[in-house]
Amino acid sequence: MAETDRTVKAAETGPAITGILKDEEGMKLVSDMLETKIVDIKPQYDFSTELGFIYPVVEQTIQVKGKAAVSLLESLSDKGIFKRSFFDKLLRCPRCQSINLRPSVRCPKCGSKNIARGRVLEHLACKYIGVEDEFRAGGRYVCPRCKMELRTMGADYQSRGILRKCRDCGEVFNVPLTNWVCLKCSSISDDDKIAEVSIYSYSLDQTKRNWLEFELKPKVRFLEFLSQHGYKVAENARVKGRSGAEHCIDMVATRDDDLVSHSIAIGIEIAREKVGLDRVLDFDVKAYDSGFHNKVLIVVPELGEEAKKFAQLQRIEILEPKELEKVLTRSVPSVAGTMEKEPFEFKSKSQLVQYLERQGYKVKKNAKVEGRSGAEHNIDILATRDEGIITHRIAIDVEVGKRPVGLDKVFNFDDKAYDAGILDKVVIAVPGLTREARQFARHQGTKVFETGQLEQSGQKNPET
Ligand SMILES: [Zn+2]
Ligand SMILES: [Zn+2]
Ligand SMILES: [Zn+2]
Repeated sequence: MAETDRTVKAAETGPAITGILKDEEGMKLVSDMLETKIVDIKPQYDFSTELGFIYPVVEQTIQVKGKAAVSLLESLSDKGIFKRSFFDKLLRCPRCQSINLRPSVRCPKCGSKNIARGRVLEHLACKYIGVEDEFRAGGRYVCPRCKMELRTMGADYQSRGILRKCRDCGEVFNVPLTNWVCLKCSSISDDDKIAEVSIYSYSLDQTKRNWLEFELKPKVRFLEFLSQHGYKVAENARVKGRSGAEHCIDMVATRDDDLVSHSIAIGIEIAREKVGLDRVLDFDVKAYDSGFHNKVLIVVPELGEEAKKFAQLQRIEILEPKELEKVLTRSVPSVAGTMEKEPFEFKSKSQLVQYLERQGYKVKKNAKVEGRSGAEHNIDILATRDEGIITHRIAIDVEVGKRPVGLDKVFNFDDKAYDAGILDKVVIAVPGLTREARQFARHQGTKVFETGQLEQSGQKNPET
């Protein structure tokens, strides 16, 4: 598939982490936890505050307080970065929001607070019901109503269990009426009017450690690196494959140099231990179906043996943390400065060479290249540029003649480039290509420049 046929759409929603970690405060908190400067974030009661509790660690580390602190912690949990654990349930006064409430237990019949709680006995003869204390009389049980002595449980009296009895109206009950007195505003609220609020403590989800460590540091640097090398990057790019399936590729880095535009599919695989073959296979299938020739897979912490072999076979550039670090610190001349668009216009071979050199390419004229078949090929112009993660090669065929260039020449060139494993191909044809040659070139993903008006530029011999 030709590079230009591919449609790359940037994802509408980034990976979970992007949003939250663009927020500096969240990032600081997470990195402190990764460095175990903070182990967990626990609330502490503080009745002087509006919420009634504070997160001292959050206040000290990033100076975020109150509701803002809670919403930051909650959003980090929603993103799967933090794990929440239940800490306590707080009740709030519906009038003033204070959590400084006292329960007030009342008789469900008369509302009195004068309630006794204990083992409740019933005198079977007179049906008197009271708490045990009411029957006690110097080591014996005597009914306070009929003054009879209670001797045998089951015969004289029975126990009804631990219950409550109202001292004012005599009602015996199990569940009292509970309402709440606010110690701040003195209002009394019924139980069902009270809001319950759960509060949590937070800790880092350790299964996300490798991922977070990558996201926080190397990834940011890697993106900078790509942009320094003139790449435009679409993160979580959705790419439509040849099969019709839509793939999501972690990063698609595209460099458009006017002469050719090329893209790299970059996958990021992070595991707790080794990244397995299945992940590499999956990436390779996606990249292949989407027509990417350049494939780079960033692997944290490392790749399994079997997967390594497969990657090599499929020409997937693997970057484990060590190699990635090397790539990021290597001083490959940054080409961002030369990214000032310089429109390409063919005037002569030597002008083309200069143009390529200005773009940072090393240029070889009449380059001899050995192909996979073992044959040696001659390529008019071979331009090579080390772009840090990949070495970009362009094969350029310059055909100058009196008549349009035919299919055989373009076919020949395509065949050579394929055998030599060069994926970016340019045909410059003066005065042009035949229709079928042009169609073939397009189909093979070869970029075509047809120049019919060389005379106007004053250049007499484009072959030089
Ligand atoms: Zn009695
Ligand atoms: Zn009562
Ligand atoms: Zn209140």
